[in-house]
Amino acid sequence: MSAVESAKRRILIVDDSRMSQEFLRKTLASAGYTWIDLQSSGANALKYLGIGEKGEPRISIDLILLDIVMPDLTGLQVLRLIKNIPEYEDVPVIMVSADESVNQLFVAFEAGATDYIQKPPKKVELLARVHSALKLKDALDQRRAREKELEEANHLLELANLSYIKTNRTDGLTGIFNKRAFDELYESEWDTAVQEKTLIALFMIDIDDFKKYNDTYGHQAGDKALKSVAEALQHGLGKKTDILARFGGEEFIVLLPATSRQEAMATSQRFKKSVFDLRIPHKLSEHKTLTISQGVMTTRPVASADKERVIKIADKALYKAKHSGKNAIRYYEDGNV
Ligand code: GH3
Ligand code: MG
Ligand code: MG
Repeated sequence: MSAVESAKRRILIVDDSRMSQEFLRKTLASAGYTWIDLQSSGANALKYLGIGEKGEPRISIDLILLDIVMPDLTGLQVLRLIKNIPEYEDVPVIMVSADESVNQLFVAFEAGATDYIQKPPKKVELLARVHSALKLKDALDQRRAREKELEEANHLLELANLSYIKTNRTDGLTGIFNKRAFDELYESEWDTAVQEKTLIALFMIDIDDFKKYNDTYGHQAGDKALKSVAEALQHGLGKKTDILARFGGEEFIVLLPATSRQEAMATSQRFKKSVFDLRIPHKLSEHKTLTISQGVMTTRPVASADKERVIKIADKALYKAKHSGKNAIRYYEDGNV
């Protein structure tokens, strides 16, 4: 370690003997360690490190030399309190022990001490141990930095993944699920319904006379109306597990897991009302306002049944709804078609 580097290392000496303090400080200074703080009691050392007193800031420190035998708080007690603080977990602590405290070293190592030096220390030995403790600190710091970098990189990756999944599954115009997302969700909801023997309801929904709407008010107004309808349908959903997706063009698909025929009918009435209540003017429609038609299918899925067929039946119901006049709903229960 060069003198310049040594001068950057901040070392704390905790010792109740002024003579010992001075000896340690001078020896370290002779090797270029000039940034040294001295504390003559455990209590003062803790205060200096920001431990105990509320709001005291922690400090950045590279090494602590800690005397074991001190009046009041012993070095061991101080060591335990220091090692309890996450910021000081990696700070090496060298215990400085007089003869009478050698048998306490085992306890000190258990509590997280890095090394020890016998009092009175030999200069060469002291410097060698300080040097290797600081090397250890560098290695720990580097490892922590790498861990932190890795954590940050992982976090960024996770965010990127989430946003990818989101854009991949969201319809760009309306913000609701797209068809791809629906297909996945339908598959898993179907399996759940087969296992739990529950009913599901499937809706095909189509905006009435939307071509005329575009022709009358322009494509941009058409986009805006599509968004409003999607929003109204979203509000019309009953349960958190209900799924609304844009099926394509001005068509929507809705899946209600674990839903009875009555509940499905109530939901379709809510949809009808919430779109009608938007009061989007449409002078070429019979109702003078934008409306939707719905084909609704309820079924109890079995493993052998065909998911696609259920969609086809709902679509047929929608077709019939359209032909019975717009703003209409037609229901089918499995077996009726
Ligand atoms: P029907 O009542 O029988 O459903 O008649 P319709 O005019 O709504 O149905 P048709 O399928 O003839 O026309 C659908 C129209 O929806 C044509 C198309 O331009 C419009 N459309 C589809 N997707 C979009 C879109 O993303 N934005 C806009 N503005 N219009 C769209
Ligand atoms: Mg239409
Ligand atoms: Mg259509």
